[in-house]
Amino acid sequence: MVKELYIAGEWRLGRGKVIQSIFPADNSVNAEISTASPEDIEEAIVKADQAWRSPEWRARMPHERAKVLYKVAELIEARAEELSKLQTRDNGKPLAETKALVMSAAATARYVAAACETMNDDMTTQRAADFMTFSVHEPVGVVAAITPWNSPIASEVQKLAPALAGGNAVVLKPAEATSLIALELAKIFEEAGLPKGLLSVLVGKGSVVGDAIVKHPLVRKISFTGGTSTGCHLAHIAADKLITTSLELGGKSPTIVLPDADIELAAKGIAYGIFSSAGQACIAGSRLFIHSSIFDQFLKRLVEITKGLRVGHPEQNNVHMGSLINAAHLASVDRYVQLAIQEGGEIVTGGHALTEGDFAKGSFYLPTIITGLKNHAQVCQEEIFGPVLVVMKYDNEADLLEQANDSCFGLAAGIWTENYRKAWRMARALEVGTVWINTYKKFSISAPFGGFKDSGIGREKGRQGILSYMQQKSIYMGLNEQPNPWAD
Ligand code: ADP
Repeated sequence: MVKELYIAGEWRLGRGKVIQSIFPADNSVNAEISTASPEDIEEAIVKADQAWRSPEWRARMPHERAKVLYKVAELIEARAEELSKLQTRDNGKPLAETKALVMSAAATARYVAAACETMNDDMTTQRAADFMTFSVHEPVGVVAAITPWNSPIASEVQKLAPALAGGNAVVLKPAEATSLIALELAKIFEEAGLPKGLLSVLVGKGSVVGDAIVKHPLVRKISFTGGTSTGCHLAHIAADKLITTSLELGGKSPTIVLPDADIELAAKGIAYGIFSSAGQACIAGSRLFIHSSIFDQFLKRLVEITKGLRVGHPEQNNVHMGSLINAAHLASVDRYVQLAIQEGGEIVTGGHALTEGDFAKGSFYLPTIITGLKNHAQVCQEEIFGPVLVVMKYDNEADLLEQANDSCFGLAAGIWTENYRKAWRMARALEVGTVWINTYKKFSISAPFGGFKDSGIGREKGRQGILSYMQQKSIYMGLNEQPNPWAD
């Protein structure tokens, strides 16, 4: 049966062409899904605009809106097993990873609900006896949320929860590959009591459905996570419409190992930082700089750990790396590895796809480590979005920082050292939005997340993440009997 879309609070078939959801581990068909037509898009957005303006949502106090989000958190947790299995079918990530994403989605909904309960408008400092001023926060209206396939449920709740908490309506366009989990999430919001019209999930191609959504005149904010070139395109559309954006884009994050690092801790953390999600993460620590004094020893241990990683069927237990999202993406990852060889790189481990036996039908690639390249090599500058780590040697700190910052991206960085004073200095010098010291890929919903440079604009998460879906209004209240300063 072809899957229906969630259009302005109703479940019905989209009027666009039907697409297939594919399980990347063996290319079997999970489901057929309808996609949104231009008429469906129009209906979802017009009704979203009515829904956020309607007293049913607008007049609800923030703590009352929060009730829906608490319920969303509860329902996600109650269905965690089922949701993580569905997400694994969607994108081929191991179950342990998709379970963590599901739990993070629940935690996000709960955090935003709690923050919503305690959001304040401000009475600003009084500057005259005859009036006082308030600064209040208003919704922006209809928000277009566009998400990628690598961490779908987590990135979707990260947009939906704060946008709805802020009093807005959301039209969500998930990545085609991970539409099933987005539709399941819509069921959860519906069951949690979200009034009709405030959420639509429109499946379809980014360049068609996504583009039409963001260009619609009633859409007043774009919240996007995905590739830098798509982000740039959306920023142009937003500029033409004079609307705001939150853009969380690509990365080529440097990780630095100082001579005094705890080698075992660092090597394990670095392997996790690049190879979890099979490197399909914007924050993947994909450029590694090791101090020359420990280079050989460190690399040896890192290679041992990497060779010990279990690549396997994502539905099996104890698998470290599942399948890449599809064969086209695997081909792109492999092209980068071949390019690295042409650029003078040496493959220390990995470097090819797994094609035998159980791997034959899916898109599996070995965790790969490349040495012998300089930071200006194309493979060190472009985002591969796969399990490929380039390792470089450095001698002095100033030169290291220059190289680490020599990237168009600025999403994240890692530092491994026992010297916290030095780590702090480096963290401040790195041109990135997130720095992990002696850890990597840890996330807190209370800490703002976003990129410097080509890695994005705006910050998600934290209390300010909710405010980014609101606009401020100043209200002056006159206290004087005299309406104006004129004498008569
Ligand atoms: P990735 O390489 O991670 O798939 P993309 O930027 O291509 O990154 O895709 C991220 C999301 O953006 C997906 O939901 C995709 O469908 C959507 N998208 C792609 N192109 C456009 C576009 N021109 N307009 C709106 N959304 C788009």
